[in-house]
Amino acid sequence: MENSSKKRIFHKTLHGLNNQGATCYLNSVLQLLFMTPGFHERLKPNIKTDQVLKTLFDNLKEGPCETKAITKHFQIEDVYKQCDAAEYLEHILSGTGRPASELFRGELSYSTKCRQNHIINEETNAFWTLPLPLKDQNSGVFSVEGGLQRVFMKKSFTGDNKVFCEDCDGNTEAERACKMNVAPQVLVLLLKRFAFDRNTGSHVKSNCTVEFPSTLQLQEKSYDLYGIVDHWGSLRSGHYTALLSNDGQTWFKFNDQHVQQELHNPETPARLGKEI
Ligand SMILES: [Zn+2]
Repeated sequence: MENSSKKRIFHKTLHGLNNQGATCYLNSVLQLLFMTPGFHERLKPNIKTDQVLKTLFDNLKEGPCETKAITKHFQIEDVYKQCDAAEYLEHILSGTGRPASELFRGELSYSTKCRQNHIINEETNAFWTLPLPLKDQNSGVFSVEGGLQRVFMKKSFTGDNKVFCEDCDGNTEAERACKMNVAPQVLVLLLKRFAFDRNTGSHVKSNCTVEFPSTLQLQEKSYDLYGIVDHWGSLRSGHYTALLSNDGQTWFKFNDQHVQQELHNPETPARLGKEI
């Protein structure tokens, strides 16, 4: 999601990226970055990753592209190995220069205080993607707005979960608050469909429906939805595609070398079906 105040870029014709084996995760993330307003302009010629991305983007404006220069640059040797798209987005951003990665950078701070208001712990964490666990959903529908609210909900430590407060010199009831110190220019929400199931001892995928608004209000910032990276299938065998928009009206599905306009339903992005 991008901050509404940013101007949108518009590409007249959109092109696909060739899949080298199982590199759909990479293609989806690259298309997402290609369509992120302001990202191109921030790439610096003296940084190798920026340069490799810029060359790809320049070519992608002209026609369909291969991604061999990208896999070589990121030392992806096994192109038949499926990787996690969100992890790869972070991997790419960790290689880009500060101006480009800064676009996605946010900061969360956590503060734990006892009932006497003593500060037990304080920490600040920077993020490029904000994870939202889907396990909290019930009724088969996960609301992104609800999930985001839960990130900022106070957490109480009582009973067996009391924490040690040095100033009180003992275990005490406490409360942890989370706040967004820095709201990113472009907000990436990571919908955590995979979770570890203690009963079966394996990872399971939640296939619940996800509901999200086309404009999301977060503190004083407002974000317009412009892209979704979808995972189809199971943990072991799956496929990534991306649904992206230039203008919030017309949506395109990027499925490796195939790019097609989503014609049937302008509401599609607002509710992702069970199959995704
Ligand atoms: Zn205390």
